[in-house]
This record gives sequence, C-alpha cells and structure tokens, in this order.
Amino acid sequence: MTAAAHETHEFRTEVQKLLHIITHSLYTNREIFLRELVSNASDALDKLRFFQSRGDAVANPDLPLDITITVDKDARILRIADTGVGMTRQELIDNLGTIARSGSERFMAEHGMGQGLNGGAKAGAAAGDADGEAASSTSAAPTDAASIIGRFGVGFYSVFMVADTVKVTSRSCQPGATAHVWESDGSGSFSVAEVDGASDAAAPARGTIIEAHIKEDASEFLERHRLEAIVRTHSNFLPFPIMVEGERV
Ligand code: ADP
Ligand code: MG
Repeated sequence: MTAAAHETHEFRTEVQKLLHIITHSLYTNREIFLRELVSNASDALDKLRFFQSRGDAVANPDLPLDITITVDKDARILRIADTGVGMTRQELIDNLGTIARSGSERFMAEHGMGQGLNGGAKAGAAAGDADGEAASSTSAAPTDAASIIGRFGVGFYSVFMVADTVKVTSRSCQPGATAHVWESDGSGSFSVAEVDGASDAAAPARGTIIEAHIKEDASEFLERHRLEAIVRTHSNFLPFPIMVEGERV
C-alpha cells in the first residue's frame, strides 16, 4: 500500500464531542447499537434496489440483497455485512466523519455542545439555536448515551458504546469500484486506506462490512442468541433477510 493511499483524518468537532459522550456514558440499553447498524444496512440495500429499479448499472447485480451478522468470539469481533450501495472513499470520509442528520444536530444544540461538553446544560442557553427554544431549561446532563440515541438516533456512532475499535470495509456499487477501509477507536480521528490487491478478496464484493471489536464489558454482544433476540426486538419487519451466524432470524 502506498503512503498516499492511507490517510488520517480528524473527526469534525461535533463528532468528537458526541463520541466523548457516547464512550463515557452510563450504559443502559446499549443493545440498540445493533438496531442502528442494521437500519443503516437496510437503508443501503434500499438505495441499491432503487438504483437497480431505475436501470442503473451496479456492481455484481446478481448478489442477493441481505444483511449478515457473524461473530468471531476469539477475536472479539462482531461483523455486520450488507450488499447495499456501499461507500466510496469520499463517502466514507463524509458520511462517517461528520454528523449529517438533523436529529443529531438538534441534540447537539439542545445540549449546548457548541459550548463544550462539561457544561452541557449551562451552556445550552448560549447555543443560540434557530428554533428560539429555551434549550437550557430542558437540558438534562447527557449521562445516558442510550437514551440520547433512542431519542435522537445518533446512528452509526452508537457502535462505540460496545466497541473499542471499529473497522468499516466498503465497496461502492459503482461498477469497478475499489474497496476502502475506514478505521477508528472513536476518539479524535479515523483513517481511510484503499484495500490493496492481496486483501481485496476479503473485502465485500459490493456493500459494507462493519467489524466491531467488542469491549471487555460487552461480551454479551458476541453471543448468538443475544444477537438474535436483539434483531427480533428492534429490527423486525425490515424488507431484507437478516442472517445471524448463518440462520435467518
Ligand atoms: P443516518 O442513518 O441517520 O444517516 P448514521 O449515523 O446511522 O445516520 O449513518 C451515517 C451515514 O453513513 C448514512 O447516512 C450513510 O450515508 C452512511 N452509512 C452508514 N452505514 C452504511 C452502510 N452500511 N452502507 C452504506 N452507507 C452507510
Ligand atoms: Mg442510521
């Protein structure tokens, strides 16, 4: 791999603050990270289906549209793979390095996160959000990441409630696209590198593989039955098959 192909990027400031909250919070209901990852996988499959339905050429058009969850207990890796649209190098940087969604932005504003983390409730008054709401009066100390995510859908970053490092390997559905790896420990930065020739076979043929290295205190998320139960509870009725360790849930 050439030096130019491997780059380190800083997370945008608001992402760093959010990640700090997520990784330093009291954990109740951490399991909803899986709902967030599965819903992203489902969104990616929806987009792929849309491209196909309007006649766009996509890579490997005959791949089934599905979501595959597997674990490697010894390595403490939980894997969520989809055959959806995938992400280009730039999409990995843009989509996983910033907070795009309005719900998260509103959360940041309500908690005064423009003003720094520790004074969350106090700083809220100075956040100056356009709604003109008195954000400071309703802000609670953001101690429970799961409740924040439940309310606002923080999405992908919720994986850092259960994982200490996360690797995302993705191949865009654009025909001929190369695969790229995004990696982060959820602190200040992430890296992006092109997958080189020898590793290419392990990259998805199309779509995305999220590999979460599970924290010591989150081993339950390496248990097949636990994962199946979470999928049934939170990801029921999605329009794509979900497999856990080879069996359809
Ligand atoms: P949201 O889903 O609300 O946009 P997330 O934080 O969950 O917010 O995800 C951020 C973005 O990252 C998504 O909008 C999407 O562009 C991209 N993304 C995340 N997971 C995937 C995936 N499995 N396949 C393709 N793109 C993804
Ligand atoms: Mg999402």
